[in-house]
Amino acid sequence: MEKLNFDTIILGGGPAGLAAAIYAGRGAVTVAIVDLNMFGGQPSNYMELENYPGFPIVGGYDLMEKFEEHADKFGVQKFPMQEIQNIDLKSKKITTKDYEFTAKTIIIATGAQPMKLGVNGEKEFVGRGVSYCAVCDGAFYKNKTVAVVGGGNSAVEEAMYLTKFADKVYLIHRRNELRADKIIQERAFKNEKIEFVWDSVVKEIKGDNLVNTAVIENVKTKQTSNLLVDGVFPYIGITPNVEHISGQLEQDASGFIVTDSTMATSIDGVFAVGDVRKTPLRQVITAASDGAVGAVYAVKYIETHKEAVLSDVTL
Ligand code: NAP
Repeated sequence: MEKLNFDTIILGGGPAGLAAAIYAGRGAVTVAIVDLNMFGGQPSNYMELENYPGFPIVGGYDLMEKFEEHADKFGVQKFPMQEIQNIDLKSKKITTKDYEFTAKTIIIATGAQPMKLGVNGEKEFVGRGVSYCAVCDGAFYKNKTVAVVGGGNSAVEEAMYLTKFADKVYLIHRRNELRADKIIQERAFKNEKIEFVWDSVVKEIKGDNLVNTAVIENVKTKQTSNLLVDGVFPYIGITPNVEHISGQLEQDASGFIVTDSTMATSIDGVFAVGDVRKTPLRQVITAASDGAVGAVYAVKYIETHKEAVLSDVTL
């Protein structure tokens, strides 16, 4: 196993991690960025974004490619597709299948992932009718009927995206009012392929080899019914990616990492940025902003720490 040491190690190569890499790289410290997958994070799967300033419309993948190229400019060392075995935040040591990384500071930018419905059939039919990525799998549902679950921006936007392929899209929401932004709601209400199923939750997903039914329950009448669908796309929110990290530092009740305004966590020299931290807004722009703040304070931490070491020596 190869041993490598850096001033800063960034865990996660989505918008927060890549922005942190750019700012730390510019701060003239040695920076490595480590990810379980390829870089780009969640936005790589978004068809397009229309709220990243300077880019009225941009493909998610294209924007993330630009972030990565920008980080390359500052000599950031990249370690994609790493199989993480252990993360010890206090000693700042990260062990993967191939490397043992040590660092002076760690910036956690591991993001978040879709929450699961937790109903029978969900796990069993993943890849056979259950999907958490309309952009990845939408094309399989040409002229078919699908259900999207949830009422937030993700559910409504992905339902609209799926109407490019599917003949009909049910949007199943547990209340009778959407949580999504008004502008997004208005577009969805105008889309004739979307049928809203209000006050309802999915109780079970059924099928043979492939999904053919979503069993739904009306939460007000308690009546259950079968919706005949070829696919189910749950978009009911996100949960932080804190495997190997949870329990080592302060988190909120949902597991999101608590930071101060400099992105510092409860562990000295460890920062958290982007969707993984407790934050009121999770967007590419806020992730990038967090990354910038966290990296600047990580660099300051390294400088202060250096001074402390020097003064120790002088004493
Ligand atoms: P979200 O905003 O948290 O919405 C989750 C939705 O799922 C809510 O409508 C919620 O219902 C419903 N839900 C939660 N648990 C459920 C369960 N067990 N069963 C059934 N329904 C359930 O999550 P999101 O839509 O994934 O968005 C996450 C973040 O990314 C948000 O901050 C969002 O604004 C942002 N985002 C922004 C954009 C954009 O600006 N273009 C696009 C995508 C995502 P209730 O409403 O009843 O709570």
